[in-house]
Amino acid sequence: MNPPGIVNAVLLDPTNLRDAPGLWTIRFDGDRIGSVEKQNGRAAMPCPSGMLDARRGLVVPSLVDAHVHLDLAYSLTQVPPNDSGTLLEAIELWQEAKSHMLAPDVCERALRAVRDEIAGGTGYIRSHVDVGSMADYRLCEGVLAARQQAKDLCFIELVAFPQDGLMRDPGAVDHLRRAMRDGVNLVGGIPHIESTQRDGLRHLEMVFDLAAEFDADIDVHIDETDDPHSVYAEYLASMTMERGWQNRVTASHVCALGSYPDAHASRVIDLIAAAQIAVVTNPGVNLHLQGRFDRYPKRRGLTRVSELLARGVPVAAGQDCIADPFYPLGNGKMLDQAFLLVHADHMNTSGAIRQAFDMVSGMAGRVIGLARHAIVDDAPANLAVFDAEDVIELVRVRPTPHWTVYRGRVVAGTAAN
Ligand SMILES: [Zn+2]
Repeated sequence: MNPPGIVNAVLLDPTNLRDAPGLWTIRFDGDRIGSVEKQNGRAAMPCPSGMLDARRGLVVPSLVDAHVHLDLAYSLTQVPPNDSGTLLEAIELWQEAKSHMLAPDVCERALRAVRDEIAGGTGYIRSHVDVGSMADYRLCEGVLAARQQAKDLCFIELVAFPQDGLMRDPGAVDHLRRAMRDGVNLVGGIPHIESTQRDGLRHLEMVFDLAAEFDADIDVHIDETDDPHSVYAEYLASMTMERGWQNRVTASHVCALGSYPDAHASRVIDLIAAAQIAVVTNPGVNLHLQGRFDRYPKRRGLTRVSELLARGVPVAAGQDCIADPFYPLGNGKMLDQAFLLVHADHMNTSGAIRQAFDMVSGMAGRVIGLARHAIVDDAPANLAVFDAEDVIELVRVRPTPHWTVYRGRVVAGTAAN
């Protein structure tokens, strides 16, 4: 369905995410937004034939999932149960399972996750893809095929992710290079999976070497542990500055930062800010997987979200996992991650709730490098139409959007007006 536009929309003022006054008409020009005009008066206008009627609901730029694993999605039933619920058991179970997974199955599961995401209003996805040697490139083939099949539904960028390390799994680097040649966008990493800190640092150096080889940005899983002695984030920041990779690096998870003493954490946050690194937290999965060595009280496991934000570091909230051995839940609804974040980091003021929404919306767009992620003239016509009067209600109720629009086409929701 290619509607010419949307009437009776409530829009957000991008400076504060409060409702902009009045009702608005958005017209599409192909895959772009042709115009955004304020309607006369406060009453809703009759909806012209073919247009979508937002009925005074909120119209927002497409939501962003800045961190998910499409190759893992919906693999839960193919893997023995993770009885401990820990990250380490999940990695072991996944190693066994991925050694016999085939690309068509991966593609099918990834597409199911993509459909979930767009049904929840997402239009931009950054997915990590396991290029470890045990996966023998079949996972990457499957996700690349899914991206091709979903190219008219949403934007997907991929990160070549050596899940089992680069020192522990030396075969991964060939697959990683092949992935980059085949159109995967970013170089990934996971230094804390290596056996020693020395190997972890060599791993990080290799990640930067590979990024330079392909002139690619970087998104690494980093310090995804409660261990306060896991200090790769500061090395990531220092290497980013040494290599001149500022504004090109994302640090995903950064959980250990939440367990550092305050003085140490403050120094690391300063380094992250100086290196212009963006951070992605994964509220549902971090709450689920971290704190597993604690009895009571149990740590929440997230990074220091509010302190990073206060220091000016852009932070996004990702889904991370959907029904896989790492996390049995997950549904691709990014509003759920904003909701969880409000609870996990005490983001309870109305301003902080808007900020949590920003972390799956505008700020998340900046984290993944979107240039024009707004409802303005000539921006991509990628948006979602919700039955909610403001952001607070959106995060509170987390409705399914009436429509998700990608490049001017309705890709999810009720096709009828
Ligand atoms: Zn991840």
